[in-house]
Parts: sequence; structure tokens; C-alpha cells
Amino acid sequence: MTTSQQNLAPGEQAQAFLSREVHHHFVDGESVPAVSGQTLTTVNPSTGAVLARIASGDEADVDRAVVSARKAFQGQWSAWTPYGRQALLTRVAQILDERFEELIQIEAMDMGAPVSRLRNSKPALMKMLSFFASQAANISGETLMNGIPGNVTTMTLKAPVGVVGGIIPWNGPLNGQFWIIGAVLASGCTAVLKPSEDASLSVLRVAELLYEAGVPAGVVNVVTGLGKEAGHALSAHPDVDRIAFTGSTQTGRSIIEASTVNIKKLQLELGGKSADIVCADADLDKAVPGAAMGVFANSGQICFAGTRVLVQRAVVDEFTERLLAFMDTLRVGHSLDAAATLGPVISQPQLDKVLSYIDVGQGEGAELLRGGRRLGGEFENGYFMQPSVFAGVTNKMRIAREEIFGPVLSILPFDDVDEAVAIANDSEFGLGGAVWSQSLSTALRVVHGVHTGTMWVNCYGYIDPLVGFGGTKMSGYGSKGSAAHMDNYLYTKSVYIEL
Ligand code: NAD
Repeated sequence: MTTSQQNLAPGEQAQAFLSREVHHHFVDGESVPAVSGQTLTTVNPSTGAVLARIASGDEADVDRAVVSARKAFQGQWSAWTPYGRQALLTRVAQILDERFEELIQIEAMDMGAPVSRLRNSKPALMKMLSFFASQAANISGETLMNGIPGNVTTMTLKAPVGVVGGIIPWNGPLNGQFWIIGAVLASGCTAVLKPSEDASLSVLRVAELLYEAGVPAGVVNVVTGLGKEAGHALSAHPDVDRIAFTGSTQTGRSIIEASTVNIKKLQLELGGKSADIVCADADLDKAVPGAAMGVFANSGQICFAGTRVLVQRAVVDEFTERLLAFMDTLRVGHSLDAAATLGPVISQPQLDKVLSYIDVGQGEGAELLRGGRRLGGEFENGYFMQPSVFAGVTNKMRIAREEIFGPVLSILPFDDVDEAVAIANDSEFGLGGAVWSQSLSTALRVVHGVHTGTMWVNCYGYIDPLVGFGGTKMSGYGSKGSAAHMDNYLYTKSVYIEL
């Protein structure tokens, strides 16, 4: 980016970036073409038109990036003090604050989230960077008692694990990448990021901005390409110490297998089928919009979406009526339309998959109350679908068991709280979940009863890095946020000193 480009308006900056003929990998502080010279095209999901051409990485590209990350890990970067890394994270936050509008335009066109949603996500990003800046200066081991005869002092030290492979999904890469970048910069690790082939552009642009902010060459590298090529090569690379993966459970399983090559440490944030439990005594003024946006936000492409909405039978009619009325206020639109609240889904295959679940649900006997169709007219070339609601769903149905990852909400009636907890737990996933009740004892009974990594009470979807969130069962392991997150980027060294 030249100084003159810095004077451009954010939309023009985004266009200047997008107008590049090919978006190459970012390795060792430079933009470098794929070793094979191969490229892939990415599409704007709002229009179906080709948006950009990105490098198609393979084993050779991953290897070059890992060499760069290893060199940086062993070089000057390892001598940076905690204060230096903390100051760097503060500079990164400043530059992202200044360039956020440019980044959200790129993200909106690349993955389809409406600018209104992305703009609202800025405080969350700033909080995340502030959290990691605080963690940089908060890494400590312990001095421990021991039973060794003589004069032996024992302690533990914390050290960065080394080169981290970060494999990122398409549903929110702009903010999502900072769960990895933040921890890498705070801990003194280095990284090779592999964004999704469907949404790589904000990750590439951020890597350039990080370099401008003073992140040393090789500390954050980006290799783009297909999951089964570049992603697999990264998870199988013998010189990558750790993989931070966010994506589907199926891919998580492949990554576990590939990681055995050098017994990599893994953090896996996988899929979900979360239960959102609305009790008869819930404040429906809050529960209806809360449960609706717990599914429809980001067009249903959120791992912890509360897609199984369990409603106590006494209020199921009122809840449903109010839900449909709330849905009338949602505005589906092009991601750059400032008034749009929901955008398209990411791609034609994803749209086909989501629409196929509409047929599955109807075939299983669920009642489609709203939606279920692709949008035509001005939207016909994009991957838009109507927010959809099924009623009369049972937990045996595939639409209640499988992750749809689109704007499809299922209503499952229940009679008493124990039954709701049992339904919530009857899932292979354990990522999110919520309960809406004005009774603290009912809410806590559900919180304690549901086997899941995160529970919300009378709200849905809050994430704070100080608190963290994570999954259990087939939703993966390893927390995002909280002290446990940093621990994933460090290893413990036990030290015995005889004087
Ligand atoms: P995905 O698993 O298809 O892809 C995720 C990433 O993995 C992409 O970068 C992809 O290129 C790469 N990949 C694919 N195959 C690979 C392989 N064999 N080896 C290595 N890498 C490979 O997921 P997606 O469709 O991009 O994202 C949606 C999924 O992500 C959903 O299941 C959603 O629940 C999950 N997700 C989970 C969280 C969480 O925190 N738990 C957050 C966001 C998304």
C-alpha cells in the first residue's frame, strides 16, 4: 500500500486491493505467487460474479511458509520482551481501528455478511486485541516445593510452542483470524494461516497491515488454497508444532489423523447443533428476537447457532406467532446494502446443501411455516435464501441432528424442563446453548444439565475473550479466550536447579 492509497476513502482502498490481478500468498513479509503458478477464483456471494483470483497453494507453498515461520521463530522475534509484544499488539489494534472500514468492505464482498453486521463487530475485535495485549505481559510459570533431598529449587517456565498452523473457515475470517494471530503475537509463536478458499481476502489484507504495523517478516504468513491441498499439507507438515483449527467436525477428524505425523498439539473448534430452550415463564419480548437472531445472524452460518429452538408447549403458539412477526422485520440484501440485516450464504454448494435440508425436513414430516426458497428477482444471481422455520420438529429428524449451517430454525415443543434438557443432550455436538426463563433456579438447572461448552441465560451469543468459549463432545476441544487459550500456545518446562 502506497502513501497515496492511504489517502483513499475506505471503499476505494478496498477496490484498490480487490483490483489486483492475483492475490498471492503472503510469506516472509512479501506477496509471493504459488510455486505451481496455479490460481483459484473466488466469487462475491451477493452477485455470483467472480470477485478475485487467489493463489492455489500446495505442499511446496506450505513448506516455504513453514520455513519462513520457523526462521522467524528462531530469529530476533524470540528476543522480543513481553512489553515489546504488548506494544506491537496495541499498534496492530490502532491500525485495524483506522482501516476497519476498508476491511469490512473486503469481507462483505468476499463472504457476504452485511456491512451493518460487520461494522457492529468492531468492538468485539478491539476487545480481543486488548485481551491478547494484556496476556502478552501476563505469562508466568510457578515456583514449586519439592521433596528432593539437598538444596534443589524447582519451578516451571512457560515457552511458546513454536510454529502454529491456523486453519480458518469462511463464516467470519476477519475477526476469527485474531483468535490465532492475537495468541501468536502475545506468546511469541509464529504462524502460517490457511484461510478458506471461499473467503481468503480479509486474511491476506490483514497480513499486509500487520507487517505495516511492525510485525516482523515471517511471524504471520498466509497460504491460500484448497483445504484438501494447502490445508492438508499444513496439518501434515512435520515442522508445524500446533494446529488451531476452526471448521467442520468432518475436517477436524482429517486434521487429527494428519497431525499424528509429529504428534502436533491441536485446538479444534468444530460444528454444533445447539439447543435454545424457551421456558413458559420466559420474557418473550426478549426470547423471541434472541432465539431468532441466535439462528438467523450471519444467515445461519455461525457454529453456535441455536438451531434447535425448544419451546415449552404452553407458549409454543404464542412464541411461533411472535417469531414469524419478528421475521418480517429482517431484511435480506446485498452485503453492501447498509440496510440489509441478512446477506447471502457463502456459495452455490452451500445454498444447495441448505435447500436440500428443506426437502429433508418436509420429507420427515416437519411443517415448513416460513421460507424454504431461494430468492429470485434482483437476488437471483446471488446465493440468497429466505429465512426459514420448521414447526413440529422432533429430535429424531435429520434437521434436528445435522448441522445445516444456513438460516433454518426448527421449533421442538417440550413439556417439562427435564425433557428439554434430555432433548438438548441428545446430540453428538456440544458447542452452545441457551435457556430463557425468569426463574433463576430453572435457568441454573438447565445450565448444569446441558452438556455443552457454552450456555447463555436470557441472552444468546455473547462472547468475551476474558471469559472464553469452547466445545465439548464432537464440537471439539480447546477454549477460545480465557487464560486457557494462551496456554494452548505455550508449553510448560519443569526446571530443577541444584545449587
Ligand atoms: P470446513 O471444515 O469445510 O473448512 C474449514 C477450513 O478447513 C477451510 O480453510 C478449509 O479449506 C480447510 N480444510 C478443508 N479440508 C481440509 C483438510 N482435509 N485438511 C486441512 N484443512 C482442510 O468448514 P467451513 O465449511 O469453512 O466452515 C463451516 C464449519 O465451521 C461449520 O461446521 C461450523 O460449525 C464450523 N465453525 C466452528 C466454529 C467454532 O468455534 N466451533 C466457528 C466457526 C465455524
